Amino acid sequence: MAYSNDKKAEKCSFCGRNKKETNLLIAGVSGHICDSCAEQAYGIVREEVKSKSDLDLKHLKLLKPMEIKNFLDQYVIGQDDAKKFISVAVYNHYKRLTQSNHRDEEEVEIEKSNIVLVGETGTGKTLLARTIAKMLHVPFTIVDATVLTEAGYVGEDIESILTRLLQVADYNVESAERGIVFIDELDKIARKSDNPSITRDVSGEGVQQGLLKLLEGSVVNVPPQGGRKHPDQKMIPVNTKNILFICGGAFDGIEKKIAMRLNTQVVGYTAGTKSENIDRTNLLQYIAPQDLKSFGLIPEIIGRLPVLTYLQPLNRETLRSILTEPKNSILKQYSKLFKMDGIDLKVDENVLEYIVDKAIEFKLGARGLRSICEAIMIDPMFEMPSGKTKELLIDLKFAQTKLEKVNFSKLKVA
Ligand code: ADP
Repeated sequence: MAYSNDKKAEKCSFCGRNKKETNLLIAGVSGHICDSCAEQAYGIVREEVKSKSDLDLKHLKLLKPMEIKNFLDQYVIGQDDAKKFISVAVYNHYKRLTQSNHRDEEEVEIEKSNIVLVGETGTGKTLLARTIAKMLHVPFTIVDATVLTEAGYVGEDIESILTRLLQVADYNVESAERGIVFIDELDKIARKSDNPSITRDVSGEGVQQGLLKLLEGSVVNVPPQGGRKHPDQKMIPVNTKNILFICGGAFDGIEKKIAMRLNTQVVGYTAGTKSENIDRTNLLQYIAPQDLKSFGLIPEIIGRLPVLTYLQPLNRETLRSILTEPKNSILKQYSKLFKMDGIDLKVDENVLEYIVDKAIEFKLGARGLRSICEAIMIDPMFEMPSGKTKELLIDLKFAQTKLEKVNFSKLKVA
């Protein structure tokens, strides 16, 4: 496309106005369009996209919290409390979206239900967020809070979070504005001490301050290519009002803060019988906003993340289920890969137990299950597609032989 220079006989192929009657006439391969037709066309496109997204919203409204949870159950094992909180939060979030389309008379504005998931790494936080996005068919992106820094420092500007969302939405701003952002490692931007710092805390409090405006919902100018903003870059305004933010973090050591709070409560006069009922083996279940504050999140951030829930550490039984039960479980994925070469995969029950044992022994968690399977399957995956055998039976001896060759520290995933 180029601006037209040829003055004679040039007119808009849509309205027929000739060049002099327009402010701008843009030349295409075999025609022209004037500024006012371009504007009208843009209006039509926006309307179309909007009515399509309204249709999507109607579809979303059909999903009740229990249905959302049922969907999550197909992909995520256990974590019932987190699923319940997320299902309600997502349901309310999309109710809120439909409300912003049809304002009621009372004008009660429902606040955003941004979520914080606290739990050890590899317990399914990202998986939960990803599964929600899959269910809703909305753009979804994962960003790592550790790469963010305050404007002016080395690292990425906070707005670059939205660049990623725009990219997955193919730069469709409307669609991005209804997306979900998963901010991982929120705990890493905690203030280092509970006192507001005198010196500047480049990657901590400053970043939290920066995140505030994204979380609360405002129009943010987003650099389309991400990274650092520079003055002559054209920005895309994105309204974050309806973007759902799900934050995750391991918050290592937060149990101590929880215990301290619970103990103080016990000492205080609210104590009563409560202390005996506390399950000290799983303190995360008692997590409350003030624990996030003691950990180093600023109160404003906590206020904008009203839904707080936790994930359980994965035990043996859960790890075993993760191998085979989810709709796209690791084992089902391998079966499918082999099936595509016409090969039937069979894995002995005791091999599954063995894989879980190794994941626990080497503290690899759920992510390790995959690397262990990969180590066992790599040779047959390499050799069998060129061979004639159409059945693969993995028994304990086979698995042990393959794993003995592996250096487990290599399997350790971040
Ligand atoms: P986190 O975000 O908590 O660090 P992830 O969600 O990335 O952990 O989990 C890593 C991988 O482990 C997932 O891709 C999934 O394969 C597996 N996984 C972890 N927890 C679960 C779970 N509860 N149910 C099913 N798979 C899980």
